[in-house]
Amino acid sequence: MDKVFIGIDVGSVSTDIVALDVEGNILSTQYLRTNGQPIEAARKGLRNLKEEFKGDIEVLGVGTTGSGRQLTGIMVGADVIKNEITAHATATITLVPGTRTIFEIGGQDSKIIFLKDGMVTDFAMNTVCAAGTGSFLEHQAERLGIPIEEFGDLALTAKKNVRIAGRCTVFAESDMIAKQQYGFSKAEIINGLCEALVRNYINNLGRGKKLEPPYVFQGGVAANKGIVAAFERELNHEVIVPKNHGVMGAIGAAILAKEYIERTGRTTNFRGFECTDLDFTPTSFICGGCDNSCEVIKVEMNGKAMAMWGDRCGKWTNSIA
Ligand code: SF4
Repeated sequence: MDKVFIGIDVGSVSTDIVALDVEGNILSTQYLRTNGQPIEAARKGLRNLKEEFKGDIEVLGVGTTGSGRQLTGIMVGADVIKNEITAHATATITLVPGTRTIFEIGGQDSKIIFLKDGMVTDFAMNTVCAAGTGSFLEHQAERLGIPIEEFGDLALTAKKNVRIAGRCTVFAESDMIAKQQYGFSKAEIINGLCEALVRNYINNLGRGKKLEPPYVFQGGVAANKGIVAAFERELNHEVIVPKNHGVMGAIGAAILAKEYIERTGRTTNFRGFECTDLDFTPTSFICGGCDNSCEVIKVEMNGKAMAMWGDRCGKWTNSIA
């Protein structure tokens, strides 16, 4: 029987699930679309995992991260629930020791994390500007009729440089259309777009900060060779893309669960794979207790309130026995 630690990263675009063995080796990785239903995605991933191991699997610990970490953490009985910065940094430090700067670009958000001696010293996140994320690239690939998987390779074939205004998606799109009309090839425009995205990312997230190598690039967009090359040209330095760059948050969550269980000697809170069958309902309401009007999230399992959060004063969080 395989003994594993599970990491679950529930984001707005994808839900990633990994299993590590007791030595920390990666045994299984999954990337699932969240499709606005984080609980369903986590359920599906756990069922897949059980099937993959033909049920012959013992879970020693579980960690969750990502925007749906609390919800999923309650459903599965997570041992640790950690924010994305901690989870990503943990995975990177473990897989690429000595990393100083992490570039993370996902489908709908991006972040930069600065490290020194294996500790996070600073970070910045972008959750509002689409021009620095994968969804922008996907949209432009679609507009140009190029499969997103071919986008990066095509960028590498560009013969000339063309500068695309990348400050925001609207500017970039109209500038690309203009450059197409001037006669630049698709490859050149795409290459210009990769450079615009990298410039935009570094200007937004790295503004006023010292970027130091080793650089590690992760997140779904790290699969795009055009973006990797644009980073390397901009920084004039090699950028490392780890093998499992798309599921680093989940890897970090699994490592943190492993460290926690090993450090405390506790047994896991994991509810078992049967947790995927529990009736599990999140609801939200606006508290009228004061002018803060907090949006409080309440999660019920089989009719019993399991957890509440979102209240600034703790009134509801503390009401759960
Ligand atoms: S949860 Fe607390 S802080 Fe928020 S509105 Fe209610 S009473 Fe006010």
